[in-house]
Amino acid sequence: MNLFHDEYAAERSRMVDEQIKARGILNPAVLSVMREVPRHLFVPPESIPEAYQDHPLSLEEPHATISQPYIVAYMTDALQLTGTECVLEVGTGSGYQAAVLSALCREVFTVERYPSLCRLAEDRLRSLGYNNVTVICGDGRLGLEQYAPFDGILVTAMADQIPEPLKRQLALGGRLVMPVGNPGVQDLIRLKRTGQDQFQRETLISVVFVPLMPLPNPTSNPAESE
Ligand code: SAH
Repeated sequence: MNLFHDEYAAERSRMVDEQIKARGILNPAVLSVMREVPRHLFVPPESIPEAYQDHPLSLEEPHATISQPYIVAYMTDALQLTGTECVLEVGTGSGYQAAVLSALCREVFTVERYPSLCRLAEDRLRSLGYNNVTVICGDGRLGLEQYAPFDGILVTAMADQIPEPLKRQLALGGRLVMPVGNPGVQDLIRLKRTGQDQFQRETLISVVFVPLMPLPNPTSNPAESE
């Protein structure tokens, strides 16, 4: 894929230098992928002019936002990927975080509760050639038992605790990164599985994320269904 020379390449490079590198993320693989993935193709059309700005943006459904670029870089770095991992993302949203992960590990499974966002993300990822990403519609709080264990789990929505199935689906030595706290502010937690029942927990930074929620009720708004 050669996306270095699209019309937003300079803006994207500035985003990396000013918002990410300047704040202390120096992992060369993470910086390089953030310079490549065309973030403007993952946001709603009306938000394209803001795609490289230093803040999150609303997506096409309520309670769904593409995170601030710095936070995407920070969480990706926190997973400590080497390129060989199988990674689960909970909260596909736009598919942008999954695209970033895709270049840094072997395989990505990403779960989203809104069928509409799943379709949009799937189309974007396919058309851009991110072929090691599988988008699945469902309740990410349950993880994906059939593809477990995962060397990395990245949860891009918050809860007051880490869902137990996700902990169980972490490989030995695997890392889970997730915002944990109350709806106003959360700690970004990194949990490492060090044994069958042993986990090491670190608190990284303060963040604000949308909540992990149950599946939308398909019968509640028939006008929106296809
Ligand atoms: N990682 C995304 C942004 C995530 S926003 C990106 O790069 O764009 C959080 C996402 O989590 C939203 O799209 C929301 O619909 C989804 N979500 C919330 N609860 C969920 C659940 N239980 N299972 C799967 N996805 C969920």
